[in-house]
Amino acid sequence: MGSDDVSTDAGEYRIRGIAVSRGIAVGPLQFQGRQFERPRTWPIEEWQVEADEARFRSALKETQRQIEALKEQLLKRGADHSEARIFDAHLLVLEDQVVFDEVLAGLRQDRMNVESVYYKVIRRYLDSLRAVKDPYLRERAIDIEDVANRVLINLRADEDTGSVRAEPHVLFAMDLTPSDTVGLDRSLLLGFATQLGSFTSHTAIMARALGIPGVVGLEIPPGLIRAGQDVILDGYNGLLIINPEEETGKEYESLSAQQAVLNQRLEQLREEPAQTADGKAIILSGNIEFGHEVDEVKRRGAKGVGLYRTEFFYFQKDRHPDEAQQTKAYGDVAAAVDPDGVIIRTLDVGADKFYSDGRHAEPNPFLGWRGIRVSLAEPVVFKRQLRACLRASTRGKVRIMYPMISGIEELRQANAFLKECQDELREEGSSFDEKIEVGCMIELPSAAVVADQLAPEVDFFSIGTNDLIQYTIAVDRVNERVADLYQPGHPAILRLLKMVVEAAHDHKIWVGVCGEMAGDPLFTPILIGLGVDELSVGPSQLLRVKHALRHLDSMECVKLVADLSRLHTVEEIMERCRTLAKARYGEFYQ
Ligand code: PEP
Ligand code: MG
Repeated sequence: MGSDDVSTDAGEYRIRGIAVSRGIAVGPLQFQGRQFERPRTWPIEEWQVEADEARFRSALKETQRQIEALKEQLLKRGADHSEARIFDAHLLVLEDQVVFDEVLAGLRQDRMNVESVYYKVIRRYLDSLRAVKDPYLRERAIDIEDVANRVLINLRADEDTGSVRAEPHVLFAMDLTPSDTVGLDRSLLLGFATQLGSFTSHTAIMARALGIPGVVGLEIPPGLIRAGQDVILDGYNGLLIINPEEETGKEYESLSAQQAVLNQRLEQLREEPAQTADGKAIILSGNIEFGHEVDEVKRRGAKGVGLYRTEFFYFQKDRHPDEAQQTKAYGDVAAAVDPDGVIIRTLDVGADKFYSDGRHAEPNPFLGWRGIRVSLAEPVVFKRQLRACLRASTRGKVRIMYPMISGIEELRQANAFLKECQDELREEGSSFDEKIEVGCMIELPSAAVVADQLAPEVDFFSIGTNDLIQYTIAVDRVNERVADLYQPGHPAILRLLKMVVEAAHDHKIWVGVCGEMAGDPLFTPILIGLGVDELSVGPSQLLRVKHALRHLDSMECVKLVADLSRLHTVEEIMERCRTLAKARYGEFYQ
């Protein structure tokens, strides 16, 4: 998109996207010049082929040097090795022998400059990857495009690469790749807005880890925006406001001021107990994806980690972390939150989460090979992880949790692997917590329905509402087109939640909720009223949920749930939730 695409400078225009990182940014818009564009093309003579081949080799080398530097930069910023592994994936793209050979063959055959040959080869790969619906492959395409773009830039080092001006700005890009995100000058970056991406894309994950406000999935009408335009980026509501009117600017100024005051108030709650106004205590813990996030969880006064998603470790199928690396990573988290404990969820790859060998694209990945199905089919990988969890349990309280359990057979098979690992470790003389607690996620409707059968075989349940909602209502959780049908307040969801909580309590085990529903204060009254024992939420939601809890009366929550069970429509249910939430902590909804 160039500066002469402008069709309007007049009037305020609001574009809705997906809020992936909280905060408000006000400033001029800048573009990240990283579209993968066809380079200039010219014929070359036979005697020039060698020189072009040499140029190509040195561009690859320079790109490799840059990627390694980016990786270093990320590690220096405190990221752990699993995050930095994104760049290992990028290095692999560079080392791809097939691409290399094709470029050299093309160079000799076509006798065109090497950048145009390279572009042609990569373009063909990208087109075929993008024709496949598998989200993993789409992510791969972004990685490949990112690396190839760097190679092209290094091939034409003397040309203008469209760098971003050195002033504070809101960055706009088609998409931000991990290397873009890490390479950004944070001191100038007020926020970022992208056209592509979802809550689970690499960009969003990295952005949250780096604490940059952001909105993704913005559908921008052609020619609407240009560099230098003033914008407001609302990372709370997922809005990009172009040419904001004075009135809007003032509204956002006061919203920012209010948020700052509210955040200060929330900070005071850090050490306060997570309990309702009438004294009903709840365990409030944090969700993490990367080990270092545990600092934020602690800083916000959570009781340990209620969900440690371990997929990010397994970024590449061929480079799994070994048992010792996993033992250390899990043990570090357990030690950091001791005595509160960490719930380590075993690998939940597939569907929206990366990892797949890329050779098995599935027409229906959410209903395909994911979660515990993968672990049960790959005992070596699964047992390595279980052994690491067990061994980490000597450094602090560790609980193990299985994802995507659909019924008792899978649970028993997983537990049988766990028992094998325990026997092996005993035989080897390695110590572990003999009383380690084991739980399963309830995130499939089938598991919710048979929760009473699962409960006697575990120590706890954790309800994964993200998947439970998508599978119950048949709404893809990452598809913006059906986002309005994704309804935590659906009567069917409330019934399932009730069944699960009752089944757990009938069998004297505790039950938590670790899906996003637990982090939304609108639903806190429902979860309290249902009798949930634990809420595990993203670090940025912790204090908000604690604040909500502390303003609710547990008996009014019980009454709310009873009233809701008689309602038939989502709208009626949500209206009741909104009314109660606004009455008790209206400051969140101003
Ligand atoms: C869930 O499904 O609610 C959950 C917590 O798991 P994930 O979001 O990792 O699928
Ligand atoms: Mg899930």
